[in-house]
Amino acid sequence: MTSTATIESVRAWVNAARRVVVLTGAGISTDSGIPDFRGPNGVWTRNPAAERLSDIRHYTADPEVRKASWRARIEHPAWSAAPNAGHHALVALERRGKLHALITQNIDGLHLRAGNSPHRVIEVHGNLHQAICLACGWKGPMQAVLNRVRLGDADPSCETCGGILKSDTISFGQALVPAVIDRAMQSAQEADLLLAVGTSLKVFPVANAVTTAQAAGARIVIMNAQPTQFDEIADAVLNGSISAELPQVCGE
Ligand code: NAD
Repeated sequence: MTSTATIESVRAWVNAARRVVVLTGAGISTDSGIPDFRGPNGVWTRNPAAERLSDIRHYTADPEVRKASWRARIEHPAWSAAPNAGHHALVALERRGKLHALITQNIDGLHLRAGNSPHRVIEVHGNLHQAICLACGWKGPMQAVLNRVRLGDADPSCETCGGILKSDTISFGQALVPAVIDRAMQSAQEADLLLAVGTSLKVFPVANAVTTAQAAGARIVIMNAQPTQFDEIADAVLNGSISAELPQVCGE
């Protein structure tokens, strides 16, 4: 469905919009070398067993799952990844004064590294760069905990209370932070244009941002290589490369 005409019309909508809300998923970061979950080269597509690592019930119950998770965190591509043209396009959108909010499901921190303002970025699934204790709520830098793993502690526990440590991200089966998801949905309601970028829109409640924005009168644009369940209600669907097309959509 991608066509120059469609990109042109989306670009015209962006030019006319005053409050663009962008909802991003793992697909915006694949061109930075971070695989998504459900795309053709996704972590779960290649290895369905990896889904266990993302489920809080397995994580809290099974030390072997935690050890595998800590190894995966050490090797996570986010530590060396740099923002790509897709991330930079959203910084340009903010500089134009059009970005009302950037809701992201990503935990890689690349929107902030690219230069979007912290008060515009809503990380609904948390951030890999911080660690948290599931028992006492202690939070601290992830790299300090990873150093303990590197020194041989395969399943490091909280130095304050002995509780289970984890990245400060939302796993499946774990509750979202109410104030954060509420802010995301409030922003969606205030949008006049919602761009859903690089997300399969399968994770709820955040995917409800699409219908929330539409019900409040916003245009809906979906930019994703694979079909989503919301394509039929969208005003435009672009299936091309995000890093190639988002700069065209966001540029003046
Ligand atoms: P997803 O894996 O379910 O879907 C990603 C979508 O992006 C796929 O449909 C794929 O076709 C599309 N895509 C990938 N690269 C693309 C490209 N270059 N151009 C166009 N389309 C592209 O991801 P999701 O919807 O974000 O949900 C997965 C969950 O996993 C999220 O909750 C997120 O927290 C987490 N996650 C985050 C990261 C990250 O932080 N970078 C990476 C993997 C998973």
